[in-house]
Amino acid sequence: MPIIHHRIKELRAAVKPYRSQQRVALVPTMGNLHDGHLELVRLAKQHADIVIVSIFVNPTQFGVGEDFDSYPRTLDDDVAKLATVEADYVFAPSIDEMYPVLPPPTLIRAGTITDQLCGQSRPGHFDGVGIVVSKLFNIIQPDIAIFGQKDYQQLAIIKQLVRDLSYPIDIVTAPIVRAVDGLALSSRNQYLSSAERKIAPVLHQELQCLAQQFVDRKHIEQGSDILIAEAGKRITAAGFVIDYLEVKTDQLESLLNNDTAESQTEAQDLIILVAAALGRARLLDNQLVTVNQ
Ligand code: AMP
Repeated sequence: MPIIHHRIKELRAAVKPYRSQQRVALVPTMGNLHDGHLELVRLAKQHADIVIVSIFVNPTQFGVGEDFDSYPRTLDDDVAKLATVEADYVFAPSIDEMYPVLPPPTLIRAGTITDQLCGQSRPGHFDGVGIVVSKLFNIIQPDIAIFGQKDYQQLAIIKQLVRDLSYPIDIVTAPIVRAVDGLALSSRNQYLSSAERKIAPVLHQELQCLAQQFVDRKHIEQGSDILIAEAGKRITAAGFVIDYLEVKTDQLESLLNNDTAESQTEAQDLIILVAAALGRARLLDNQLVTVNQ
């Protein structure tokens, strides 16, 4: 079983002896763990000797009217799952422990990268992510930290944070883990009714369909906007309310290309990103596309 610490001081004391000789990995989460999170831990174990999983539903990244109060909190189950993948420590602080003053007067601003995608529809969200991740980096001082590609804009913002604040931490990217029908695993999937859960894989199917078309540069030149609009219509017809459905080649991608050598795969030319609500659940997904030259 992993050892659980709720206090910063205790966790620091526990990790200190390892620091000089062994590699320490951090896997930050908000808990209610699923196989996607466990895959992050497995990846962490490949890169490090000691794996610390943080479980903290961070109030500063939730906006007014969002699901902070109802977000599932399942610490005992989470710890049991983490035992199966041999995580070493769980850091599960209280809100007071993390934020002596709430909201914290010190801000981390990610800048113009948040003018788009989730940053646009969730103002202040990435400032909250920035401060909590900075705090976790300072508390744990890991050698590496693992983040999922599922939250692609978050990943890009973390890489920017590491670059701009000179954190000596390698960021490793974990691929998206999906249910057998293609739906990206997410703690928020449990907000779906059984009827909505049957519809939900449409998001991934439409991304795959677009990706197949975009592999051929000719299709992009002939008008990616039309293809995106058609896919958007099908997603809406299935019952989703789309927040965004976009293809990017810009700043996000160039930030991602600063990946560590270990996590770097082949050249990735485009990324298709979607956020859409289905009932009470806001679902995210994305698909990388390597375009034929
Ligand atoms: P969360 O607990 O939702 O804040 O997510 C914690 C970490 O797990 C983030 O780095 C996410 O990108 C990652 N993650 C969430 N869902 C998945 C998934 N289906 N596959 C891979 N990583 C994921």
